[in-house]
Amino acid sequence: MNAQPPIRFIDLARQYEQLKPEVDAAIHRVLDHGQYIMGPEIAQLETRLADYVGVEHCIGVASGTEALLIALMALDIGPGDEVITTPFTFIATAEVIALLGATPVLVDIDASCNVDPALIEAAITDRTRAIMPVALYGQCADMAAINEIAARHGNIPVIEDAAQSFGATFSGDKSCGVSTIGCTSFFPSKPLGCYGDGGAIFTRDAKLATAMREIRVHGQERRYYHTRIGVGGRLDTIQAAILLAKMDTFEEEVRARVAIGDKYRARLRDIPGIDLPLLRQGDDCVWAQLTILTDERDALAKHLNEAGVPTAIHYPVPLHHQPAYRDLCRLPAPVPHAESAARRVLSLPMHPYLSDAEIDHIVETVERFQKA
Ligand SMILES: *Cc1c(COP(=O)(O)O)cnc(C)c1O
Repeated sequence: MNAQPPIRFIDLARQYEQLKPEVDAAIHRVLDHGQYIMGPEIAQLETRLADYVGVEHCIGVASGTEALLIALMALDIGPGDEVITTPFTFIATAEVIALLGATPVLVDIDASCNVDPALIEAAITDRTRAIMPVALYGQCADMAAINEIAARHGNIPVIEDAAQSFGATFSGDKSCGVSTIGCTSFFPSKPLGCYGDGGAIFTRDAKLATAMREIRVHGQERRYYHTRIGVGGRLDTIQAAILLAKMDTFEEEVRARVAIGDKYRARLRDIPGIDLPLLRQGDDCVWAQLTILTDERDALAKHLNEAGVPTAIHYPVPLHHQPAYRDLCRLPAPVPHAESAARRVLSLPMHPYLSDAEIDHIVETVERFQKA
């Protein structure tokens, strides 16, 4: 066992070993042409990602957080407005709403750990300006149900926080292309990661696309002529070049992620005391995180770590319990499922290069703990 390389939570080094010639060449092409800001790779990547997702417009941006912020800004969301989202997500989802002076309205999750569409309708008020479902762990929320509710209430825009789900599908369509606007992140550990910060926004709406392109660069319509308030939100050319190189093997990685997720779940399913988030059949989940639920989370994590298996908790504190957010969120109803998930979730190592031997070791370590 000691001769084995350590299991990493997400093994970016192993991926780089596989892609080194392509990635190195892509970086060097940028160093040679020297257009570090908005170089030709940005438009190439935007076209490639728009085709992949199946929408007309893709806008490369500085991060997933910036993608969400720019989307809300393009919809003119501000003080007095409400945005319905989930309490069980990474802080950035609510942060951008709060930054603009709007109110995050938090609706409980269902057994998939994503927002429960059945609870959204009761949270809609005449101040609701957007619904922002998150595709947690790499599985889309029930976008059909959410889009239907949004349409019935005067076409409320739906922004998918797809930071964890690039490459996932919903009813045959790609995540990021299943709502008014889709926002993703290329943070290194996300399903499609670059080697720094990066993100992208997707839409079929030409007017919103123009607005978001301008907001990305200080709200300028042309150079030094500013028609809106914007941000410094560009994606770096070097990161775009790295992403273009990674796109050549991305679909293979997605297949590997789906297969590894299936293997994990087939074996974890029958272990007493371990629950799994509900998975919709027929759609691809890209497993940004492979997360289990257990009442003995902290003891199991310790047991795994001692056996050389790194773990993480996504996420230990629901948004409305975060000190900075306690007073600025609105909860139309209690959120018992989010409270419970925050106490019970534990994420196991997950990346497309995880070997069968590693999965065996991880699952057997969980089994040993549950049997003890
Ligand atoms: C990672 C993440 C973000 C933020 O993405 P960054 O690129 O790190 O800014 C937003 N929402 C969710 C759900 C995420 O997981």
